[in-house]
Amino acid sequence: MIFELIGQEQIAERFRALNGKKRIGSAYLFTGPEGSGKTAMAMNVAAMFLCGNPRDGAACGQCPACAKLRHLNHPNFHFIHALPRSKNPSENDPFAGLRDDDIGLITREEQKLSLDPYYQMNIPKANNILISSIRELKRKLAMGQAEKGRQIILIQRVERATREAYSALLKVLEEPPRGTTFILTAESVDPLPPTIASRCQTVRFNPVPDTKIADHMVGKGRNKTDALRIARLSGGNVKHAKDLTETDFSDIDTMILDFWRILMGSKINDRRVTNADLYTLTERFSKIAKDDPSEFRNYLRFIIFWLRDTQLTSSQPEAEAQLINPHLSREIRRFAEFYPDFPHYEMMRFVERTLDDISRNAYIPLSLANLFMELRMHLLSSKRSTAHETQ
Ligand SMILES: [Zn+2]
Repeated sequence: MIFELIGQEQIAERFRALNGKKRIGSAYLFTGPEGSGKTAMAMNVAAMFLCGNPRDGAACGQCPACAKLRHLNHPNFHFIHALPRSKNPSENDPFAGLRDDDIGLITREEQKLSLDPYYQMNIPKANNILISSIRELKRKLAMGQAEKGRQIILIQRVERATREAYSALLKVLEEPPRGTTFILTAESVDPLPPTIASRCQTVRFNPVPDTKIADHMVGKGRNKTDALRIARLSGGNVKHAKDLTETDFSDIDTMILDFWRILMGSKINDRRVTNADLYTLTERFSKIAKDDPSEFRNYLRFIIFWLRDTQLTSSQPEAEAQLINPHLSREIRRFAEFYPDFPHYEMMRFVERTLDDISRNAYIPLSLANLFMELRMHLLSSKRSTAHETQ
């Protein structure tokens, strides 16, 4: 692959085989969750189709065509994505009326994408795919091929097209110039006009498996345990995993152990835990949620991982190798022993719901106070009768 691709081997293989047999379709729609590799795949498929010297359908990575595509400036590769609206829009040129600074920024963002196909381009006010982008494309296609061979059009997040852009796109999809292949990406087919979707062969992307992301992180120098934790936290989203590459998990461990110590009602620095401590805990988490939402989500996910690990340990005490946090196995085992009747699944769902509520702008301190009180109540009621306080 000339661009990085994590997982999704079957889809890549399918396109390699199609290219090898010269059975390339005219329009594909890649659907799947964020970070599953739709754009990365589209860029690699473009390389297969444009390569001047493919081997069994795979891009060689060395010919002039591959070299140009690597920087996303092959003349037969047309990349369309959302752009800011200019104050003096032109019919056929989406860049007309944009300031040089803006154009420079857009070029730099595209270059970052060429270096990391999972990069999320950040172009201010780029909310829509504009009709001028589609008209410009039509004009270029009508002028004939810049270079001999196929023309590849990648339209990223096609669901951002305006109504006018959709109808212009539909016309060109209905009568595509010979030798063109469209690759559209979207998280889901649902928001797209059926007329667009029905012109395309749909290719579905699943979240990337944990093991693939973990292998990638090991390749980036993380140890196996941390690599797997990053993979689990990312939920199959390579973009998220890449954001977590540098995460220091020792802070998270300390935080989570403190969290349970307070909820379990044992001592902090030789004094008993009180309701005031629960209140402080709520305040602390609320502040993190406000200051750094992604760190907050990580903390809550680690609470879910803890519950998953303690559940696994209560049902299969010998399953240590399958723990998400094996280095905490001593604490996890103790929790499982002290709270044999703890409703792990129910509480995992409660944490998930809290995450959902907060992402939908629920009042954070109240959601968290509810969650923490619920957890504490179940801890008190599921405690083994002969148990001593944990240290
Ligand atoms: Zn090549």
